[in-house]
Amino acid sequence: MQNTQARAVRAFYFDGKTSYRYTVELTVAAGIASISGEAQRQAPLEELRVSERVSSATRKVTFADGAYLEIIDLDAFAELLASTGHADSLVVRMQQSWRSVGQAAGALVLILVLGYLYLLPAASGWIANALPESVERKIGGSTLDFLDERVFSASTLPPSQQASIDSRFRALEPPRQGAPRFQIIFRKSKIGPNAFALPSGDIVVTDELVRLLDDDDALMGVLAHELGHLHQRHLMRRLIQVSAVGATATLLFGDVSALVASIPPLLLDLKYSRDIELEADDYAIAMFKTNGISLTRLALTFEKLDSLPAAFSPYLSTHPPSQERIDRILKAQAE
Ligand SMILES: [Zn+2]
Repeated sequence: MQNTQARAVRAFYFDGKTSYRYTVELTVAAGIASISGEAQRQAPLEELRVSERVSSATRKVTFADGAYLEIIDLDAFAELLASTGHADSLVVRMQQSWRSVGQAAGALVLILVLGYLYLLPAASGWIANALPESVERKIGGSTLDFLDERVFSASTLPPSQQASIDSRFRALEPPRQGAPRFQIIFRKSKIGPNAFALPSGDIVVTDELVRLLDDDDALMGVLAHELGHLHQRHLMRRLIQVSAVGATATLLFGDVSALVASIPPLLLDLKYSRDIELEADDYAIAMFKTNGISLTRLALTFEKLDSLPAAFSPYLSTHPPSQERIDRILKAQAE
């Protein structure tokens, strides 16, 4: 502890039990704080807690028993702190400058974005894998109920066609990485040609998509791609991420910065949706290769879907077939 010659600091002393305000002076010597005047007491410096400095607000020095000083002479107190080697915490120093506040907010957003892009996808993968199957079944089941009430009606495909699509896909060998449990579910839909996989293992295929592709190989490609989504638990991970971000944003920002909080999800969607589509494609590629089916057939599936006017196929809005994906499939064929 440094020897201090700092001047006495005028302050009010409150004993923490009554509201009486004592006018005192605070001095520090040899690591001991002493107050004198209307009240007297001494305490080792390390037992005192100095409140964080909030610009222009009063500063408080609190004793271990809850008694406290309200500093009157802030300049003298600052000198005293400096002479005793007291350093404000980094947080306090940052709070004292608006510029720093801006930088801190920027850094926080950056950390959030990076966490969202890299940490959360990994974490959501662990969480999704750890979730009991019953949770996935429940989420998938209620999603299907919801859609059945509003968007779907019973399939009008002949049962024999449904059965043959189902048995043809089931006859395929799963790729090396294995296959999750699944059921193919046919529905007539108000939303046109579509296919998607629910966490419950339900791969929903609309009549409109079956009729549109009019090609069993092409349909196998779509199913294999959806099985890839299931295998990677893409939808479940997405759900976990969305809810985690909502919760984290609320915790961190309250409802003040809803705007800021909405940036990371947007960024993520750009990256994540492309990545998960490619992952699902890779699974489909592996499955076709395992079964000795030409990948040209798989590429044709996406070319066929790609040639549809976007407005005609909502499948395109969730699964943007792109030249990049087709090129990847054809490249894998050459390997
Ligand atoms: Zn997809």
